[in-house]
Amino acid sequence: MQASTHTDRSPSFALLEWYDRSARILPWRSPPGAPPPDPYRVWLSEVMLQQTTVAAVQPYFAKFVARWPTVAALAAADEADVMAAWAGLGYYSRARNLIACAREVARRGGFPDDEAALRALPGLGAYTAAAVAAIAFGRAAVVVDANVERVVSRLFAIVEPLPASRPAIRTATASITPDRRAGDFAQAMMDLGATVCTPRNPRCLLCPLRHDCRALARGLAETLPAKIAKKAKPQRTGHAWWIERHGAVWLVRRPDRGMLGSMRALPDDGWNAGADGHGMPPFVGDWRPAGVVRHGFTHFDLDLQLMLCAGDNLVQPLPCGPDGEFWPIDRIDEAGLPTVFAKAARLASAQR
Ligand code: SF4
Repeated sequence: MQASTHTDRSPSFALLEWYDRSARILPWRSPPGAPPPDPYRVWLSEVMLQQTTVAAVQPYFAKFVARWPTVAALAAADEADVMAAWAGLGYYSRARNLIACAREVARRGGFPDDEAALRALPGLGAYTAAAVAAIAFGRAAVVVDANVERVVSRLFAIVEPLPASRPAIRTATASITPDRRAGDFAQAMMDLGATVCTPRNPRCLLCPLRHDCRALARGLAETLPAKIAKKAKPQRTGHAWWIERHGAVWLVRRPDRGMLGSMRALPDDGWNAGADGHGMPPFVGDWRPAGVVRHGFTHFDLDLQLMLCAGDNLVQPLPCGPDGEFWPIDRIDEAGLPTVFAKAARLASAQR
């Protein structure tokens, strides 16, 4: 099968030929040239893959489609169950948007099949809308993720640093996006970036684009895409409180709005991206330090001092947030704690 508007000397033709031989087999995909996969699976995988590796996503994807096999099933799910199932994948606003989007799609009776209408759904950014339009509906959308940015920067030797080079990368990507097999083309570009045109040591000798690649011709392959050095992230400090009684630990439900919203968590002292925690324990008690959890969020790094207070006679007024409960420590893995608190729970458990 050939891309209709691209000749057998074009980059897209060479890439699709390579994809027919070398496509990665992934549970949300159809094989090269086959009818497109279910839009629900494409959308779910693309949301999960934002800022997250394929290896990390695969078990979550399997868990979600086993529990909620259709978008209607996900739309009908309890929000707390979805947040708990998402725990550990990070970037939790994605999970909240996932539920909102599923409910809107279920209300409409299905996913719209073009990029503009997809873009109007809750939480669907430009990239996800283009990816779903191309992969699930065969639209000739221009799909640009970090892998594609790298491949195209090199193929066209775009030396201007990111992010200023994004418009040029998009224009260049559009110039090689075929009208037919647009979904396969998008996935082929992602695969090439993940397996051949890698950030370090690109395997140019194996690359189907090597005859067209300007960066290779100029000896620039590994230096592109150029990036402006990132600013150091701010460092925050805070406390979390491990309150234990009769083999159970006190967990709160965080407020719906804000960081890690509506997830179960240990009570803490109010740290966030803009401020350190206040450090005051929720009640006067026999607190002892259990160690520091280091965790990197997108916009800041956190040193979280974990404090323990245990006693079967503990009757202090407990911090609640919207609600709280004693959770059995031997079932803490089922609480759906976000990663920073899961790390804290492991630290506390190691000291019991
Ligand atoms: Fe990337 Fe090398 Fe292929 Fe150019 S030839 S696209 S640098 S792997």
